[in-house]
Amino acid sequence: MTDKDRHIIIVGAGLAGALVGTLLARQGWKVDIYERRGDPREKGYEGGRSINMALAERGRHALQQAGCEDAVMARTVMMRGRMVHFTDGSHQLQRYGRDDSEVIWSVHRGNLNITLLDHAEDAGATMHFNRRLDALDFEAGTARFIDDGDDGKAHEVSFEVVIGADGAGSAVRAQMQRETKLGERFEPLGHSYRELEIPAGDDGQFRIEPNALHIWPRDDYMCIALPNDSGNFTVTLFMPNEGDPGFDTVKTLQQARELFKRDFADLLPLLSGIEHDWQHNPASPLGTLYLERWRLYGRAVLVGDAAHAMVPFHGQGMNCAFEDCVSLARHIGEGPDLAAAFTAYENERRPNAEAIQHMALENYREMRDRVDDADYLLQRELGLRLQQRHPDRFVPRYSMVTFMRLPYALALERSRVQEDILLRATGGLEGLEALEGLDWEELDNEVRERLEPLTAEQKAGARK
Ligand SMILES: Cc1cc2nc3c(=O)[nH]c(=O)nc-3n(C[C@H](O)[C@H](O)[C@H](O)COP(=O)(O)OP(=O)(O)OC[C@H]3O[C@@H](n4cnc5c(N)ncnc54)[C@H](O)[C@@H]3O)c2cc1C
Repeated sequence: MTDKDRHIIIVGAGLAGALVGTLLARQGWKVDIYERRGDPREKGYEGGRSINMALAERGRHALQQAGCEDAVMARTVMMRGRMVHFTDGSHQLQRYGRDDSEVIWSVHRGNLNITLLDHAEDAGATMHFNRRLDALDFEAGTARFIDDGDDGKAHEVSFEVVIGADGAGSAVRAQMQRETKLGERFEPLGHSYRELEIPAGDDGQFRIEPNALHIWPRDDYMCIALPNDSGNFTVTLFMPNEGDPGFDTVKTLQQARELFKRDFADLLPLLSGIEHDWQHNPASPLGTLYLERWRLYGRAVLVGDAAHAMVPFHGQGMNCAFEDCVSLARHIGEGPDLAAAFTAYENERRPNAEAIQHMALENYREMRDRVDDADYLLQRELGLRLQQRHPDRFVPRYSMVTFMRLPYALALERSRVQEDILLRATGGLEGLEALEGLDWEELDNEVRERLEPLTAEQKAGARK
């Protein structure tokens, strides 16, 4: 490929689009990024979904590779663990890691997106807002965009290579499927989410503990709250689409108030804007997108939610999308053959995306139904003790996913072995004190036999 051809267009200037644009522009590519919405720096951010998110080690590492970690971290709020709110009004902090070197960070989607757009432009990428991809002609090498913001006109541009970073409903993916089968399958979760807010206090301060991700687990449904750096919290109610309660039976503000009064009594008084929020923030469905193929020869490739949208219960969709961006940019940088680069990227990332999709689904049950169970707490405690005894071998799944960068697929494989060890050891035990009576020598041997020590490379990311 000659210098003249080193041109990539990216569809979608969301989180993945802006980041991969930065990485490629820094490698010397001419990058044009097309976004259907207006410029959030001029019009305000109109994200339409999850106002804030948990940023973890994988995401931070990718931001660091793109030179924007410090700018992003400056506006985050640290979350040390889950603050579990029980039905009787009491609460308990369950730390995520061993200490404050193992934490996650709440980041505001709009602020993050704006920081990433600024960095992409600084790196040399050109932004085109109000350009919704309508059609791609792979043979002619032309892309048609519609201006939804102003005149509704169509704009045609030519392209050599296109990256689809246009989210779960990707238009790039739809256009690729006209050329070849991608093996798309979407599995709805049957649950949706709705966002509310705990505003800051009159003094601008947080009204509940700021350095935690709050959870109100209620078996089949739950609320969570993540802090924003402006003193408020974004609260998300996750609930089945149908049922009692479900979004089909809790429709009106009155019904919502009744649900909160009964099941989230300590939270309701903090939701001072519930009238407005319930009316304006719709219930949005959740699901998992599986795709057998992410690329079309050397012409098109997908990153982030466009390739593997997942349910948000491991807080990894964005983190995984950022890892995709680093991987794709690395493979593209390795040689001139883009078809080979896209194949290597897909081979590296797809098994890992599938693993985190699976773990995210499993984590929903854990968050809403298990974090207040006695047997869960027993297994968790045993897991922590085994980690103390074998820090290189027994690392809780949450830590492998959140504080390290070992491949998600390996984290899943090892965590299955660990779960088996925990289940067998705690079967029939009751109460934390029962752990004292375990045969620790036998357990230590089992850990040594079944779990190889993690290598330094696999532990990469662990901050200690
Ligand atoms: C409730 C909820 C909570 C979440 N919490 C977390 C969390 O805590 N941690 C975490 O890591 N992840 C979380 N996620 C997942 C995270 O939001 C996504 O994984 C992430 O946004 C994916 O980024 P993306 O750039 O691939 O897609 P998006 O962020 O969806 O960006 C796609 C962009 O493409 C644009 N676009 C779409 N169609 C077109 C078109 N035809 N033409 C031009 N532009 C187009 C869109 O306007 C948008 O700007 C959460 C998701 C949800 C729903």
